[in-house]
Amino acid sequence: MTDRRTELAANLAQVEDRIAAACAEAGRKREEVTLIVVTKTYPASDVRALAGLGVRHVAENRDQDAAPKAADCSDLPLSWHFVGQLQTNKVRSVAGYADLVQSVDRSRLVTALSKEAVRAGRELGCLLQVAFDADASGRGERGGVAPEGIEELGDLVANAPGLRLDGLMTVAPLTGEYAGRPQAAFERLMDLSTDLRRAHPAANMVSAGMSSDLEQAVAAGATHVRVGTAVLGVRPRLG
Ligand SMILES: *Cc1c(COP(=O)(O)O)cnc(C)c1O
Repeated sequence: MTDRRTELAANLAQVEDRIAAACAEAGRKREEVTLIVVTKTYPASDVRALAGLGVRHVAENRDQDAAPKAADCSDLPLSWHFVGQLQTNKVRSVAGYADLVQSVDRSRLVTALSKEAVRAGRELGCLLQVAFDADASGRGERGGVAPEGIEELGDLVANAPGLRLDGLMTVAPLTGEYAGRPQAAFERLMDLSTDLRRAHPAANMVSAGMSSDLEQAVAAGATHVRVGTAVLGVRPRLG
């Protein structure tokens, strides 16, 4: 094994232990939680090493970085999740490699994703990104739709050709009533998921929790955690 592969294997084992411990603590089965490794800013060689270590889900937040990496790694058995704020002019590219877009937060984006998914002949899974720090405009600082907007946006996705409504995603907010209280935010997300599933029973994914708060997400009931730093190391630049 190369040094990097050894390092990734050790980090991955630690994250595995954390998820397993959090599941045990919460009385949940380990299989109820899927690890998504956020590979943004790291090279395709790391993605390849991670796939060799058994990782099956990776996430990226910028199309410019993700598109060439996904092309490089197209021979690997990976699901690609797009988790960043998405401009409509990047949608055609993203629809070419992403299996899931976790950052769906406005109707214009739904329209664009649907058009490009159909064009590419692919089905795109969609998570609605929920913002708990949304301002009067109904949008969060780092994207996301306010809780009040979930029902309408969810119906839109569910009825859009080429798209599949898979559930909800959030990032623990830095401001607002949930600042510094990730578990409370994740529990609220679970309640919103329960509401959504009344109309859309199959939309049962709940993506929450990152390197610093994955335990709180597992405790709240998240089905997917998105972990970057704890597996790959501190990112060299903001991403
Ligand atoms: C970068 C990122 C993560 C991973 O964050 P870490 O703190 O590095 O684990 C998770 N979700 C989203 C949306 C991200 O942009």
